[in-house]
Amino acid sequence: MIWLAIFFITLSVLVYHQISLLKSTLILAAVLVVYSISSFNLGLWAVFLLIFIPINIPVLRSKIISKPAYHWMQSVMPEMSQTEQEALEAGDTWWDAQLFSGKPNWDVLLNLPASKLSKEEQAFLDGPTETLCSMLDDWDITHNLQDLPESVWEYIKQHKFCGMIIPKKYGGLEFSHFAHSEIVMKISSRSSSAAVTVMVPNSLGPAKLLLSYGTEEQKDYYLPRLATGQEIPCFALTGPNAGSDAGAMPDTGVVCYGTHKGKKKVLGIRLNWEKRYITLGPVATVIGLAFKMYDPEHLIGEKENIGITVALIPTDTKGISIGNRHFPLNAAFQNGPNWGKDVFIPLDWILGGLDQVGNGWKMLMESLTTGRSISLPALSAGASKFTCRNTGAYARIRKQFNLSIGEFEGIEEPLARMAGETYIINAARTVTLSALDQGEKPSVISAIIKYELTERMRRVVTDGMDIQGGSGICLGPKNYLGRLYQVIPVCITVEGANILTRTMMIFGQGAVRCHPLIYQEIQTLSMEDKDKALTQFDEFIFKHMGYIMRNKVSSFWLGLTCAKFLKTPGDSHTKSYYQAIERLSAGFAFATDYAIIVLGGSLKRKERISGRFADAISNLYLCSAVLKQFQDQGCPEDDLPLMHWACQHTIFQAQQALVEVLRILPFKPIAWCLNRVIIFPLGKPYRSPEDKLIHQIASILLHDTKARDRLTQGIYINEIEDDTTGRIECAFKAVLAAMPVEKKIRLAQKNKTLPKGMDDALLKMAVDKKIINKKERALIDEAERMRSLAIKVDDFPGKVPI
Ligand SMILES: Cc1cc2nc3c(=O)[nH]c(=O)nc-3n(C[C@H](O)[C@H](O)[C@H](O)COP(=O)(O)OP(=O)(O)OC[C@H]3O[C@@H](n4cnc5c(N)ncnc54)[C@H](O)[C@@H]3O)c2cc1C
Repeated sequence: MIWLAIFFITLSVLVYHQISLLKSTLILAAVLVVYSISSFNLGLWAVFLLIFIPINIPVLRSKIISKPAYHWMQSVMPEMSQTEQEALEAGDTWWDAQLFSGKPNWDVLLNLPASKLSKEEQAFLDGPTETLCSMLDDWDITHNLQDLPESVWEYIKQHKFCGMIIPKKYGGLEFSHFAHSEIVMKISSRSSSAAVTVMVPNSLGPAKLLLSYGTEEQKDYYLPRLATGQEIPCFALTGPNAGSDAGAMPDTGVVCYGTHKGKKKVLGIRLNWEKRYITLGPVATVIGLAFKMYDPEHLIGEKENIGITVALIPTDTKGISIGNRHFPLNAAFQNGPNWGKDVFIPLDWILGGLDQVGNGWKMLMESLTTGRSISLPALSAGASKFTCRNTGAYARIRKQFNLSIGEFEGIEEPLARMAGETYIINAARTVTLSALDQGEKPSVISAIIKYELTERMRRVVTDGMDIQGGSGICLGPKNYLGRLYQVIPVCITVEGANILTRTMMIFGQGAVRCHPLIYQEIQTLSMEDKDKALTQFDEFIFKHMGYIMRNKVSSFWLGLTCAKFLKTPGDSHTKSYYQAIERLSAGFAFATDYAIIVLGGSLKRKERISGRFADAISNLYLCSAVLKQFQDQGCPEDDLPLMHWACQHTIFQAQQALVEVLRILPFKPIAWCLNRVIIFPLGKPYRSPEDKLIHQIASILLHDTKARDRLTQGIYINEIEDDTTGRIECAFKAVLAAMPVEKKIRLAQKNKTLPKGMDDALLKMAVDKKIINKKERALIDEAERMRSLAIKVDDFPGKVPI
């Protein structure tokens, strides 16, 4: 038994350190030789030789193992449509691949330089963005105008807010992804309608597509006009019969001859389409239209069914109906349907010209990868920071039972959740932007942050609404949260609806693209030269076996030792989190391979499994982003509670998701072993955030602290007394200034030097008895004045305005 144990421990060490197959065979043979000196066992040698000789001889190995495995894989892999293939191949992998691997190389994350604003970008934020925010009155926009005021539209165009991603040589601002996000975030903290209006032309849309795929003529014509707002773009993909499954659009473009600008027999496309939900559509001057292109008469080539294509079409082209508006949950950004009936366009309106026909889906998927990482995460961060700052302040200002409501334990809980989630949101936003600014295009991460950040923002705002009570519910110019609350479902639905993103996209794409070998194995299946395919497959499949074994050993060892001996970055505050991520990453990688082996191609349809895998990997990503942000910000001492809460919360969520997935994977006894023996041999070690953190974090929001300023950095803040949020900011400061005075009075009341209450007579008595001085009394009066201003809600005479 001892020798058997020595044999398996040696095998495990070799697998863990990924020693080559030949070396491992020789080392194991040496162990057997030593054992044989004391007692020779023929059976043991026979088993050893039977396993290790064939796997070390490529010809034998291929015949016995690789070939059957190749055919099995061919039979279980589902057919993939071209759109699925292109969606799968869009973008790259980055830190997500490290987390999927089970053994993340921390240098990939920690050596990434944090994005910083250039002087010019900072000046734009402090100048035009600040001014734009000061011009925005969200109630007026959403209620009275149902649009941005003309002056705001003009200001946006004049200062090139729509040209942030357009290079300077075309008259744009050529800002970094980070600057772009900071600008959208700031605007979104003032008005979501304005933020969406600015966001869309810089996100997935004509400018982005032109930059990557446009012809020189198209770029020269459109980009300068888009940069200055002379052209307002919209991007039309979705239609009544093609929502999440946009690739199924029935909109067509048929190559034919037609009349264009008085010229007869122009070669072009006749288009018919029906689109809806198109942002900026009602005011757009140019549509980026996605349609399926056909060439039945072979006028441009051999192919009849060319595929999804994108064209840039001026909205005043004959046959187009556009201008009607949808009413998206009281948000006032422009959004509406459009139709085209027998619209004839020349071929050079195809985005990218004839070279790009049929490449539309690939273009969209590639652009989505970056767009999805910037706009909605910026909006989510803006909304969350805004809620933390204002509702946190409101919890200090608002008094019930003679106490600020923020001091009640019940309110501390949602306050802590809001701050913790906001810390996570901002970490994921900034770290992802740093990666983008270094040229990475991580598509799985873009899906993770779109889903996670919008969901977490939803929780922050909902918690905020609960704390605001009636003041969040009664709409009007004074209500700063109600409209934000209403607009949340828009963020959840657009750029990949969240349910679909979680249950289909994150793990569906990740398991293939981020896995170090699966994608290469799949690619051999479609190779024409079958001998070459088998040779490559053999190499990959053996690496894959080694990889599975390593993750199994690693999961078990790290589970047994709670990863305490693992060398990772980090200090006394953070090391255990780095270790936890690495441990869960190994477990995740091992469980992923198990799921792939037992479910094969049917994993694609197992959305409950896929969704839980997505939760696990997403939380590992968020936690690593938190650690990176903490490091990039110089590990500020007063952010420690936020960092601890965020790490404990995400690690716990990752663990629970993994436990859940192991519970529902098929072949229950094996899945049980994976759970209880290999991945969690000593039980589930991670807990939800410690209770003591709740009080510490809540008090960050309830005081005028550096940590609070850092947490809410980048949003629009003003101290104008009659402004929606300015009055909250002023009241917060006034209430805090009066707190030490109130304390003196309370102490005197406790000592029975003063009677109960806090009315005018009592304050006068306090001054007369020299418990407080006149200046201090003035602080209390000012706090009360500001408090009553801050808690006011709107009422309307007669009918409630709709
Ligand atoms: C305000 C607003 C602005 C928009 N702007 C634009 C724009 O500018 N341009 C544009 O082209 N489009 C735009 N859209 C469209 C948007 O991208 C779509 O609404 C989105 O793709 C979802 O389509 P759908 O609304 O038809 O929902 P559906 O596709 O019908 O989805 C309904 C639900 O089913 C879920 N679901 C669907 N398939 C699956 C699956 N396989 N697994 C699990 N769940 C699934 C979804 O997650 C969703 O929860 C906008 C939409 C809105 C509301």
